[in-house]
Amino acid sequence: MEIVVQKYGGSSLATTEKIKEVADKVIKKKEEGYHVVVIVSAMGKTTDELISLAKGITDHPVPREMDMLLTTGEQMSIALLSMALNAKGYSAVSFTGSQLNIQTTAIHQKARIKDIETSKLIKALEENKIVVVAGFQGVTEENEYTTLGRGGSDTSAVALAAKLKGSCEIYTDVDGIYTMDPRKLKRAKKIEKINYEEMMEMASLGAGVMHYRAVELGHKYKIPIYVASTFSEERGTIITNGGDTSMEETLITGMASNVDDIQVTLLNIPSSTASLYRLFGELAEEEVNVDMISQMLTEDKKMNVSFTIPKTDLHIAEEIVEKWREEDQTIQWEVNTDIAKISVVGLGMRSHSGVAGKVFELMAKNNIEIKMVTTSEIKITWVVDQKDELRAVEVIGSGFGLEMAE
Ligand code: ADP
Ligand code: ASP
Ligand code: MG
Repeated sequence: MEIVVQKYGGSSLATTEKIKEVADKVIKKKEEGYHVVVIVSAMGKTTDELISLAKGITDHPVPREMDMLLTTGEQMSIALLSMALNAKGYSAVSFTGSQLNIQTTAIHQKARIKDIETSKLIKALEENKIVVVAGFQGVTEENEYTTLGRGGSDTSAVALAAKLKGSCEIYTDVDGIYTMDPRKLKRAKKIEKINYEEMMEMASLGAGVMHYRAVELGHKYKIPIYVASTFSEERGTIITNGGDTSMEETLITGMASNVDDIQVTLLNIPSSTASLYRLFGELAEEEVNVDMISQMLTEDKKMNVSFTIPKTDLHIAEEIVEKWREEDQTIQWEVNTDIAKISVVGLGMRSHSGVAGKVFELMAKNNIEIKMVTTSEIKITWVVDQKDELRAVEVIGSGFGLEMAE
């Protein structure tokens, strides 16, 4: 029998009523003759609430204990969904990450899945049970609990689908992937089919609808990922190889924006590659994800270096810079927290030029200042003031045809 891995996100499980509706959707699949494995997130905003509970204790909780806390969110939902399925007359069993031995690396809150032990799960499927698995969590070799990073249940789902050679369905509160987050661009268009590479870029640039690593795994193991709404029958989006053929002429497939990063500028550091190595080497060692970098030489053989990092890593950057400043007091630094990163993504950029020019034109005509820019083969990202984010999104949305026809 074919295996289907379905994943339900937090908003789809926000209340017990919704959990019962999800149970009906799972049962429908089971009745169609599939073995069903369900991955769930924590109910509603539970993970956010757990994080603020921890904040009530300390600003820097011990990472191990943070994972001990965060994994409880998903444990609640697996138990409730499994109860709902059993109450509806279907045999179901729930498992935590540790019970299934979802083995991960040992970095708390940023763990990566190494392997999944499926014998227990397969045995349950063979007993005709529906299997409900806690997303977002795993265990280290030492049996320490870990989590995969915010939004990580998507990755749990794709990893299980890959391991079980099943298909993968992600159910959420939107009915597919849009050219831009519909909360930021009201008239964004739904995309029928999107290429893994484009979706990876969009996910890493702020399209929170999919966890970046889930798409990466889908790409690696060639698992098509179907993204659709939990509570409607509208056809969703398929993430796969190739692209939307009907949109072959489109240069830009989608865009994304986020306000999760900050811009750090170091002034007056010695102008040498060794300085850059020291700075970015130390940041890398601490697993700080540096995205954009720009460097400017000053007149006195010094340089200023600007880079963007996630807001959450500011305290790590602060420690690294302050240590350096103790040795060299001429070094200054500034942090700009009011930035937004905007990106356009499209495989079409490989074969067509002119996208950057058009972005600059659109920003200039609308008096939106660009603070930093980076490009890669299939994307252009630029930084603007946070106050300009939504205006930039609208200008790009209409300028590149990312909106629905009137
Ligand atoms: P879940 O709890 O189901 O994992 P998420 O909140 O993680 O749901 O993801 C769904 C949300 O992603 C949507 O409500 C939407 O606002 C947002 N989103 C961001 N970018 C996009 C996009 N390009 N297409 C669709 N939704 C997007
Ligand atoms: N519950 C986790 C989060 O809120 C994981 C997920 O939803 O995918 O980030
Ligand atoms: Mg999500």
